Amino acid sequence: MLDMILLEGHEAELRTLLATTDGAEASAYVLLGKADVAADPWTGKARQRLVSHKVVPVPAEDRISASGVHVTWSTRSFVRLLKQAEESGLTLGIVHTHPGSHAFFSDQDDRNETELLRIVTNRSGASHGFASIVLGGDGSICARLWTSPSESTLCERIMVSGRRLVFHGVTALADDAMLDRQARLFGTSFNPIVRGVRIGVIGCGGTGSPTAMMLARLGVGGLLLVDDDVIELTNLNRVHGSRRSDAEAARAKVDVLAREIREADLGVEVATFKGWVVDARARDALRSCDVVFGCTDDHDGRLFLNRLAYFYGIPVIDMGVRIIPASKDRPYEMAGRVTLVTPGAPCLLCRGFVNPVRAREEALKRTDPDEYDRRKAEAYIAGGGDPTPVVVTFTTETACMAINELLQGLTAFRGDGGMKTERRRRFDTVEDRSSTCAPRAECELCANDTIWGRADVIPFLHRIG
Ligand SMILES: [Zn+2]
Ligand SMILES: [Zn+2]
Repeated sequence: MLDMILLEGHEAELRTLLATTDGAEASAYVLLGKADVAADPWTGKARQRLVSHKVVPVPAEDRISASGVHVTWSTRSFVRLLKQAEESGLTLGIVHTHPGSHAFFSDQDDRNETELLRIVTNRSGASHGFASIVLGGDGSICARLWTSPSESTLCERIMVSGRRLVFHGVTALADDAMLDRQARLFGTSFNPIVRGVRIGVIGCGGTGSPTAMMLARLGVGGLLLVDDDVIELTNLNRVHGSRRSDAEAARAKVDVLAREIREADLGVEVATFKGWVVDARARDALRSCDVVFGCTDDHDGRLFLNRLAYFYGIPVIDMGVRIIPASKDRPYEMAGRVTLVTPGAPCLLCRGFVNPVRAREEALKRTDPDEYDRRKAEAYIAGGGDPTPVVVTFTTETACMAINELLQGLTAFRGDGGMKTERRRRFDTVEDRSSTCAPRAECELCANDTIWGRADVIPFLHRIG
């Protein structure tokens, strides 16, 4: 199984670069990162994903001829880029347009690409390939990966990922009576897209549990639930689907939510990972997701998802709730926040939503609890203190805001411009605001595009420790 994530900025760059005024075809290159998944969490099957990393124009001196039905260029730059791609663990892609039609692979494309693959094989041996992408004049996109001169694999889906989420190659399913009422709002193309989307929900507590339950109602095809905790008595005031008996039996939050969703029989495949999101065993599952909701309070987990968003082009919709009781000196402060983390938008660290010191302490607590206790005893670690107040309506409303952002990304129901990169709702003062900020100049994730779409690297996400 093969799919592709094309970053929104790269698609725009390609469309601009390849626009011609005379209706002639045009071509460019794209370097692609690769995600090799041994077993996806829903089917257990291997899957591969290509993620756009960098667009490279065809040098002017390499262009030979072009018309409305063909484009020819010298293979000099192809061979040079192929070498560069292989040295850095990337896949080279060629991109060309069909200005007068939708995207498809023509017989001419088959012949040209077979010939190109012969060049690759002669030069580098049989184990190398390249990708090919066609941009249709109507906005459609198709892609495939050549692995031998006789064998190419079609990308079953391409997600253009950014503030809008546009899926190409989704084939319509039979009418889904259960989802009829939302098709009446968003049109008949909406449900097949939702049924094809695979979403990770990281953290299954106050905000994660309503997120998972509502995504299931929405008809999402695959849900991945990740959480390390068990249900405790004090969770029952806000974790959807949880029962007193779950707290008494100390059942895992992921198991409780999976039970509720499976018993409702909504046609949703649920996979669970009981553990910490940073755990290496969760990597296949995370890299198989199209979208991830960040519903954790954990700073280290947030830092990790923050990196995932830029390396893999998987949009992370992160949420947080901040509730401070009123006191003699100050009124209530109650707010929900939803932040879109994606290449082109500032990251959670630059926005100040992750405390790196706390993140290190949390990591230490998990990996070396004795050392953590020692430092805590010596007052090197601040943490602890009383649990923060929290009420189900505010956590659930924040989850609603987050999923509505996803709906905006999929349908543009609020108009063009896509998802807001940050929304904040004050429950106490009844205010909605959206805002953004500038990346810190030294930020390796969001200040420049060096690692965007880089996908699999060693160490994973360039994360040390
Ligand atoms: Zn063509
Ligand atoms: Zn940043």
